[in-house]
Amino acid sequence: MKSALVLGAGGFIGSHMVKRLKSEGYWVRGVDLKYPEYSSTNADEFVIADLRNVEVVKQVLIPSSSLIFDEIYQFAADMGGAGFVFTGENDAEIMHNSATINLNVLESLHQHNQSIRLNHTKIFYSGSACMYPAYNQKDPDNPNCTEDSAYPAEPDSEYGWEKLFSERLFFAYHRNHNIPVAVARYHNIFGPEGTWEGGREKAPAAICRKVAAAKDTDSIEIWGDGNQTRSFLYIDECIEATRRFMMHTDFIGPVNIGSEEMVTINQLVSITADIAGKKIETSHIDGPQGVRGRNSSNNLIREKLGWDYKMTLAEGIQNTYEWIRFQSEIGK
Ligand code: NAD
Repeated sequence: MKSALVLGAGGFIGSHMVKRLKSEGYWVRGVDLKYPEYSSTNADEFVIADLRNVEVVKQVLIPSSSLIFDEIYQFAADMGGAGFVFTGENDAEIMHNSATINLNVLESLHQHNQSIRLNHTKIFYSGSACMYPAYNQKDPDNPNCTEDSAYPAEPDSEYGWEKLFSERLFFAYHRNHNIPVAVARYHNIFGPEGTWEGGREKAPAAICRKVAAAKDTDSIEIWGDGNQTRSFLYIDECIEATRRFMMHTDFIGPVNIGSEEMVTINQLVSITADIAGKKIETSHIDGPQGVRGRNSSNNLIREKLGWDYKMTLAEGIQNTYEWIRFQSEIGK
């Protein structure tokens, strides 16, 4: 039986990955500061632990039944939407916590590999499109996020700088210590069981929540003029692409995992309002917005993995809206 370690297994993408790995017959250990918030974990073992502590990391890297995991998925990070990562207020925390986790995980894996004289475990890293340079994302209609456009580096947030540093760290451990890696750059992943309230939610979840709470013809608040563009990838498609990437033998990335269906935030509101069957007005207020335009470029992933997104944004929002509407109803 294959085994996997999922770091950040109490979070949105990590908890979905645990479900997927279990459905494929893996033995799975999950690690996080917390259990998944919206459903119970499917992991065989779930360890509540702080991955900023290197001694803890050394312990969780070794499965109880053998000396090595076949695969590690590194999702643990200090993470949030624009209201958390683009205000500047959480920069030190984000950079310190996420970089410490990645430093601890890679060095502990390297030391463990040395002690057993084997480099078997393949590790996945969830990088982010936030590492792309701001100067290529000024025109909302023509952003450039091809993998080779990363340098000269100029991410617009410290979150993006940490993601760039950490993807380089993964490649350095691959080059110098032969650790098998797979490094992706995710573009706005959304769907059921993602954070939808509390300040760390991202645009699709925040808009679904606001539309669900609104009455027909109400107005909801949007940060900025709403003409900033983004693409959003549904969680199931993200998990499928990530699994395909991990199964690939020699392509290590970095590679975009995203959708190329680019919309403005105002269009995202219209799509959500149509699904809700409500007429929704928008009022535009000051708020953190990030870059003016961003879209995934999927040429490389199509070529290397034969993967592409299939679902429309409306299909993904339909599922997400229903889930968030239900969550807000049961929370009342
Ligand atoms: P999430 O916040 O739901 O999950 C991250 C998990 O990491 C949380 O459950 C959190 O408790 C855990 N964690 C944080 N610090 C920890 C620590 N010290 N020890 C143990 N666990 C800790 O976020 P997500 O959306 O599932 O994102 C997963 C990964 O994908 C992150 O690395 C994120 O940066 C990356 N990513 C996500 C997106 C997206 O749109 N969701 C886009 C790009 C990149």
